[in-house]
Amino acid sequence: MLNIKRLWSLGVQKNSPRTRRQIQLCNQIALLFTLATVFPYQLFYFIYDYTLYHDVFVANLIFIIVYLSVLLLNHKRRYATAKKVLLVNTCCQLLLVNYYISSEAGVHLYYFTLAGILLFLYQNLRTLVYFVLLATLGTLFTITHFLFSPDTAITPIPSPWVEIMYAGSVAAVLGLLGVFLMFFRNQINQAEKELNEKNDYLKMLSNTDPLTGLANRRVLDEALDTEWYRLSRNPTPLSVIMCDVDHFKLFNDRYGHNSGDHCLKQVAAVLKGVLFRPSDLAVRYGGEEFAVVLPGTDEAGARHIGERLREAVECLNIPNEDVGADAYVTVSVGVSSFDHFNCHSGGPVRLLNSADKALYRAKSSGRNKVVFLGYDS
Ligand code: GH3
Ligand code: MG
Ligand code: MG
Repeated sequence: MLNIKRLWSLGVQKNSPRTRRQIQLCNQIALLFTLATVFPYQLFYFIYDYTLYHDVFVANLIFIIVYLSVLLLNHKRRYATAKKVLLVNTCCQLLLVNYYISSEAGVHLYYFTLAGILLFLYQNLRTLVYFVLLATLGTLFTITHFLFSPDTAITPIPSPWVEIMYAGSVAAVLGLLGVFLMFFRNQINQAEKELNEKNDYLKMLSNTDPLTGLANRRVLDEALDTEWYRLSRNPTPLSVIMCDVDHFKLFNDRYGHNSGDHCLKQVAAVLKGVLFRPSDLAVRYGGEEFAVVLPGTDEAGARHIGERLREAVECLNIPNEDVGADAYVTVSVGVSSFDHFNCHSGGPVRLLNSADKALYRAKSSGRNKVVFLGYDS
């Protein structure tokens, strides 16, 4: 099973997912038509009367070799040629076999399978070209059906074998269509899975700050809107914290931008560390500013978290010597909350503004402080 998978995956590497799927399908068709040629047709010719069916047997051998060369072409990354070879080989084979054994054996029914498969192998065709191809297959089917009767066939199959072969052809065509439908279903599932994974990845990228790994401002805006909507139905306290690194410009100037980045990562880690509830959200608001949304947390709880955050950053003991000989990196924290939701009193932006005002006061009153301001301030 593993080897078969490997066979039909020949040449798929380093291609886009879509081309990968098409190459796989091309290989699968080449393999299945090889199998369908061997069982039952070649087997019958060989066992029943090899001398009589020698010509059609040899012709089929050549067609099988061409089918297998399709795999080789894909392996050599000649996918465009491979699918053309596959299509022409199948059409020629169906014509020639019908010419030898007549349409009574039902071999020309494979044109239907081919027509269905075309849609997936040639996905970029213009509608007109696609219809021309379908019409060509339909014409070939009609020609073989009416032109190659047992009277004109070179080596017709005797009864009852011809009826058995016809039933076998119908079963094989239906079986092949079923198998291909399963392949297509798998491919669609696979494509959907890849698309979902990519979407999740893109969503994660668009919501994440690349430096700190925290959520970004877009997530903050969404979260505040969602919270506001939720509060209008289920009034509970809500708090917001704004936090800004003190004298960060001096830090950057002294220790360099890379150290500045490293310091921001450490502050972000501290921020994550002081939040315990899964509903708490920490975001990088911009530059060296961070924001925290605390659903269900009242003033006392928010002040407590603000103070824990301030202390934890100070305890990192990151020197900021341009501020003072023994100075360390610190943060100023502004906290705002409301305990009673009133949908007429403004919106989430106002809560954020209050926290920002509180932060400004923390800065102007000496930094490394936590200041609280009510929602209506
Ligand atoms: P204050 O205590 O008043 O907040 O002073 P400050 O120096 O921290 O504030 P200011 O706004 O003057 O400077 C902020 C500095 O933060 C300036 C900018 O270079 C730096 N900064 C912003 N984003 C980044 C970043 O992603 N990485 C680094 N290394 N520095 C950043
Ligand atoms: Mg600052
Ligand atoms: Mg700032």
